[in-house]
Amino acid sequence: MTYRAQFKFQGIIEVVCGSMFSGKTEELLRRIKRAQIARQKTQVFKPSIDNRYSVEHVQSHDSNKIASQAVSKAMDILDLLEDNTRVVGIDEAQFFDDTIVEVAQKLAYRGIHVVLAGLDMDYLGQPFGPMPKLLAVAEDVTKLSAVCVTCGSPASRTQRIATPLGDGGNKVVVGAQEFYEARCRFCHDPNLGNLGFSKTPEETVKTLQSMLVTEPKSANLPNLLPNLLPNLLPDSLNEEKRIHA
Ligand code: ADP
Ligand code: MG
Ligand code: ZN
Repeated sequence: MTYRAQFKFQGIIEVVCGSMFSGKTEELLRRIKRAQIARQKTQVFKPSIDNRYSVEHVQSHDSNKIASQAVSKAMDILDLLEDNTRVVGIDEAQFFDDTIVEVAQKLAYRGIHVVLAGLDMDYLGQPFGPMPKLLAVAEDVTKLSAVCVTCGSPASRTQRIATPLGDGGNKVVVGAQEFYEARCRFCHDPNLGNLGFSKTPEETVKTLQSMLVTEPKSANLPNLLPNLLPNLLPDSLNEEKRIHA
């Protein structure tokens, strides 16, 4: 019997957490689809900052997707809530502020089954945003692991392997999954992602050279190259490319 079946008419909060690529979105979608099969009305939300794949969908790295509504703040979820909605899914919960905790609690007290998915830690390995509080108030917590791309162990952490062009040191650079990979505690290095590519071509070449030495096995290195290329070209060439684009 599922947890939900035991408490059929009572609201609960479930949190699905873990590193990037651990399958949080897939698990969220699985739970939402099961609710739909049970003919329960569902609504899925995500923060509007996350427009990686589509504004109107929540999508996993495996291209599994479901329609969703993007909201700029957690309270908007209460305004957008439709009559008879029984199950509310919220992806990328770590990007909301602490009001998401209040919103989830309100929904649960109204009898709604709330499923939140989010990164428990940022790329530095520190608790991420409102996640610790959500984990504390949830009735049910699932912590997923990915596969460490360096050693093959279960991965609990998100490694940032470089700082994307123009990034000012944000916690997570949305839409740049090639800059991250899943790693276990022992292969994770919080300092690695500070290598910047947003400076001069000479610095970029130096960073790239040092990465080839320190991270020769990084599966993402080939994906990084297209991002680096504009940085390696002299400004005049980039200018020319823009004109011809
Ligand atoms: P999350 O939402 O936690 O970032 P998704 O649900 O979007 O994760 O994607 C999980 C999928 O990512 C896996 O099913 C697998 O196909 C893929 N994937 C890519 N890299 C890894 C990895 N290092 N470990 C596990 N899965 C990975
Ligand atoms: Mg996800
Ligand atoms: Zn490892």
